[in-house]
Amino acid sequence: MSDTVKYLLPEDRIPKNWYNIVADLPEPPAPILHPGTGQPVGPDDLAPLFPTELIMQEVCADREVEIPDPVRDVYKMWRPAPLFRARRLEAALDTPAKIYYKYEGVSPSGSHKPNTSVPQAFYNKEEGTKRLSTETGAGQWGSSLAFAGNLFGLQVDVFMVKISYQQKPYRRALMESFGARCVASPSNETDSGRHVLSEHPDSNGSLGIAISEAVEVAAKNDDTKYALGSVLNHVLLHQSVIGLEAMEQMEIAGDHPDIVIGCAGGGSNFAGLAFPFLGRQLREGGNTRFIAVEPAACPTMTRGTFAYDFGDTEHLTPLVKMHTLGSTFVPEGIHAGGLRYHGMSPLVSHVYDLGLIEARAYHQIECFKAGLTFARSEGIIPAPEATHAIRAALAEAEACKVSGESKTILFNLSGHGHFDMQAYTDFLGDKLEDHAHNEADLKQALGGLPDVAAE
Ligand SMILES: *Cc1c(COP(=O)(O)O)cnc(C)c1O
Repeated sequence: MSDTVKYLLPEDRIPKNWYNIVADLPEPPAPILHPGTGQPVGPDDLAPLFPTELIMQEVCADREVEIPDPVRDVYKMWRPAPLFRARRLEAALDTPAKIYYKYEGVSPSGSHKPNTSVPQAFYNKEEGTKRLSTETGAGQWGSSLAFAGNLFGLQVDVFMVKISYQQKPYRRALMESFGARCVASPSNETDSGRHVLSEHPDSNGSLGIAISEAVEVAAKNDDTKYALGSVLNHVLLHQSVIGLEAMEQMEIAGDHPDIVIGCAGGGSNFAGLAFPFLGRQLREGGNTRFIAVEPAACPTMTRGTFAYDFGDTEHLTPLVKMHTLGSTFVPEGIHAGGLRYHGMSPLVSHVYDLGLIEARAYHQIECFKAGLTFARSEGIIPAPEATHAIRAALAEAEACKVSGESKTILFNLSGHGHFDMQAYTDFLGDKLEDHAHNEADLKQALGGLPDVAAE
């Protein structure tokens, strides 16, 4: 048998509908609350930030939502994304496990994020938005929205976490190449940014701060809406194309995953792959395990609290019930910038709370090590975020070697690491450090959770 096994779907097999797990959950997720009243938000509360269609998707309980033709048409630029059987990796590990990965790095920005930036730009354009404001950590979301905004004729302003702005000039160049404007956050362009700078002039920034800036710009400008690259229900809905395709590809492979793995920052690529499989399991039964993998420096699920919290540092967003480290928690500057968010998607948090998925945390050095093992077998340099999924896949393959079981492992390779070579340079030069989360900072941030009469 050939060593390289790649499962491709024809273009017309791009899903026609997104999948919404809310329809299959044993209990509905908690509603989004208005921070002032403590009552569930209505569509009007969210209207300054999002177009109507995305607000409807945010509260949608239907199992399927149709993908508009113009969105499917853009998806065709890189979808269906390939599914690989990692035979060379299996051989290198000498494991009886079968390892598959869904590769989302084939998109224009090199990650899964355009799966949602494209529909977000499309709905905004349809409803007359002129400009999108957003934040970006490592730059993957900013470049994905820059790409999509440009296709649909929208101006895109990106608040980029300052440390990444300085460390990742090529991501910035990518955003600017797609026509976006990129600002280091905290900036002087918003009250939120000025407030942070007045207290911490040397602030490296954080996703929570950059979100405050982007939300503020949208709230204050009628022609501008806000776009978020993860966490929210409509984002997870759009990402379901990953798992829907993978289900079909696994069928072609004649296999069924015993374990489904994804790294988790805000939870969208994990959910994108896992939720279609989990939904089927909830409807029809099954024994697949689902593992969300987070960095030990930002252990939202494994160490956080399940509570109502703000999505941003300056407390401009509505309250969502999620696993959180507290909205003021600023994690160490690990290289997996996309995993440095204080909260976790409410839907991922909810299924974790229901015991339907597992979570675990790894340190960055062991993840980079796993990433290199993968790269040397499969020829793809994984994004630092994705190395967390690989680390977990390797652990499961190792467990199979010990037990002699031949389990089928499927993980999401959420992106390539071609813009993250500095991280690999640091790793190869022995310059990386493992940061655990700071226990005192965590305690303080969790102490500041908003008071909500939450269940
Ligand atoms: C943004 C990003 C992540 C983390 O975000 P999720 O919403 O948790 O998926 C993971 N991998 C890559 C490559 C990313 O760009």
